[in-house]
Amino acid sequence: MNDLKNIVVKEIKVDSVLTKSNLPIAGYSINPYIGCPFGCRYCYAAFMKRFTGHKEDWGMFLDVKYWNKIKNPQKYKGQTMIVGSVTDGYNYFEGKYKRTRAFLEEMQGSEINLILTSKSALAVRAIDLIKTYPNPLVSWSINTLNENFKNDMDNAISIKRRIEAMKKIHNAGIRTTCFISPIFPGITDVFSIIEEIKDFCDYIWLENLNLRGTFKSDIINYINKKYPELKELYTNIYTKKDMSYWEELDKKVSEYSDKNGFMYVIDKEPFLKNPTDKPIIINYFYHEKIRQSSKNK
Ligand code: SF4
Repeated sequence: MNDLKNIVVKEIKVDSVLTKSNLPIAGYSINPYIGCPFGCRYCYAAFMKRFTGHKEDWGMFLDVKYWNKIKNPQKYKGQTMIVGSVTDGYNYFEGKYKRTRAFLEEMQGSEINLILTSKSALAVRAIDLIKTYPNPLVSWSINTLNENFKNDMDNAISIKRRIEAMKKIHNAGIRTTCFISPIFPGITDVFSIIEEIKDFCDYIWLENLNLRGTFKSDIINYINKKYPELKELYTNIYTKKDMSYWEELDKKVSEYSDKNGFMYVIDKEPFLKNPTDKPIIINYFYHEKIRQSSKNK
């Protein structure tokens, strides 16, 4: 883990913490911080650096936002708001600055649909507050049970602690998601993760690793060095754009779901009503492709 003392932390003033979102799952995204001390190597949010003028490496800076009071929170009733689309609202500094807590306190009583996404256990401390929202959802990203691989990829807390946090939040009556993302071909064992978490979550979202932007070469170099036996597979998927790995995995998940009584759907809205007592598995492997083809129409 990075030494937290080396992370450059700045408190900044912004007009608003609410951003209209183009994510399919939420109308607004809320990022109480800029940057993320978890510094995942595959983080899609690392592009933020370009827009905020930060020179530090991704993961090594954090701007703590203070915003103007949200006017009339009740007017957002029924809107879905996701906390943590380009930061982790429960990163290591939330304990000190409590900006995610500040947002949740401000919006209390507004009856928004609240989604919190995290790789932390800090949401456990906010259970009472989260429970004041109607039907909230807390999601954890878990793409391995191997702590060594996890440590190679991010500076967040251990997988074991994430699962413990999921269990506590679930037991407190709050809906939970295990976001198996990004799935690393040949490394992420989707089925052993499902077996580990299936009793503590309502949804399992599956998302494949997309390699683009600045982190593509870093990940490919890492695979070549640490997993040379996967070199050909990664070339097929990420250079030759061969989808057969994902199609095969999709088939296996479908068979697994049939056998174990899970509802399994592809690219559906993330909060489908669940008629079963088991989590719904939602596959987003083809999300990028579907988005791309609808753009080209
Ligand atoms: S926890 Fe999320 S926002 Fe933070 S670095 Fe990782 S992927 Fe990016």
